[in-house]
Amino acid sequence: MRVNRTLSSLLALTILSSATAIAANTKPDAPIKPKNIVFVIGDGMGPAYTTAYRYYKDDPNTDEIEPTIFDRLLVGMARTSPAKVSGYVTDSAASATALSAGVKTYNGAIGVDEHKHPVTTLLEKAKATGKSIGVAVTSQVNHATPASFLAHNESRKNYEQIAEAYLDSDADVIIGGGQRYFSDDLIKKFEQKGYQYLNQFEQLDAVQSGKVLGLFADVQLPWVLDNPQGHQLSKMTDKALSLLSQNDKGFVLVVEGSIIDWAGHGNDIATVMGEMDEFANTLATIERFINTHPDTLMVVTADHDTGGLTVGANDKKSWNPAILHKLNASPQTIVSTFTAQDNWQDTLIQKLGFKPSDEEWNTLIAAKNDKDSKLTRAIIDLVNIRSNTGWTSDDHTAVDVQVFAMGPASKLFIGSQDNTEIAKKLDSLLPPSKSELMKKSVANK
Ligand code: MG
Ligand code: ZN
Repeated sequence: MRVNRTLSSLLALTILSSATAIAANTKPDAPIKPKNIVFVIGDGMGPAYTTAYRYYKDDPNTDEIEPTIFDRLLVGMARTSPAKVSGYVTDSAASATALSAGVKTYNGAIGVDEHKHPVTTLLEKAKATGKSIGVAVTSQVNHATPASFLAHNESRKNYEQIAEAYLDSDADVIIGGGQRYFSDDLIKKFEQKGYQYLNQFEQLDAVQSGKVLGLFADVQLPWVLDNPQGHQLSKMTDKALSLLSQNDKGFVLVVEGSIIDWAGHGNDIATVMGEMDEFANTLATIERFINTHPDTLMVVTADHDTGGLTVGANDKKSWNPAILHKLNASPQTIVSTFTAQDNWQDTLIQKLGFKPSDEEWNTLIAAKNDKDSKLTRAIIDLVNIRSNTGWTSDDHTAVDVQVFAMGPASKLFIGSQDNTEIAKKLDSLLPPSKSELMKKSVANK
């Protein structure tokens, strides 16, 4: 009896305290609105990517498997399916439109709904409240993910139209790759609007204020594996934070690890881990910013999984990331840059960081005699086999993705949610826009 009474009073206490917790989360005591929001997207970064990254980063000299920044910041999961017309598996355009505007749409849609009508995005809403806005990405800046925050187009393939639309986006910072999509004439128009145009990554250092259009590559920025000291995503993010935070009203910045997905499409685990490492560096950069600017919320997610990565494949009950640390160039670059010479086998050993077995050489030589793209794939396969890495697809999969958060209102993102809900939650954290304030004052009269 006694035990029961203790239990029931405990239960009553629990109910009481959770009722208080619920009350604390309802209006008018809604979560504290952050002044700044950094929304970070790992394109294609399914849950197995962060698992693989943990073991990849594990210090083999310690008993512990060291947790990563992803382990520390994990709060929930997100469902990624597009509008019904496109089935269960999303592309980056539909998912970015879900994340930017809270609307399910068809695969390929850039900031438009199923009926191709423009939908207002998080960055547009933030701009309307007087905040600064920006994007920092490792693909071309007008690729599907950032495009769905800054533009509206019926197709992600209309790169030139999307680039032109950026001119009217009034974004304060647009940095990444994509020179080929911005004509001299278009760049002139940006400059006439007051943008500083940069085409060399090193120029970013000197920028202290003002609007920036920075295009540092023809299309994508170099793979991290080919430019390990570059730290381009974290440096771009750091600069964007310092530029955007000069606005007293705050800012919303979208950061994308864009080419995690591209390496995933290639089933190229070594290149994926390189991109993941710089993505983790970027989260650490934002974490440091939040430590000195506690009025900043960071939300991190993926738009979808790519490749159906398996960490421990081939019925081996083992995964061996050690070999991934040996490569000192991406398989793509090894083949395109280093295997044209007669002594290509020596160069290959040097770049791979290990000597293939006789059997592996036979496969590599046969692939090279066929064509270069086959040699690239043969190297990728060799690394997958040696590390026991599995892939089930060259394309996206429909598995749920993770959600990570830090800072004020980060609790909003706990649990399972649809990707459109992430956009709606972020939207709820923005101050009312000028037009909403006008509507309210009219209503009050
Ligand atoms: Mg993307
Ligand atoms: Zn993709």
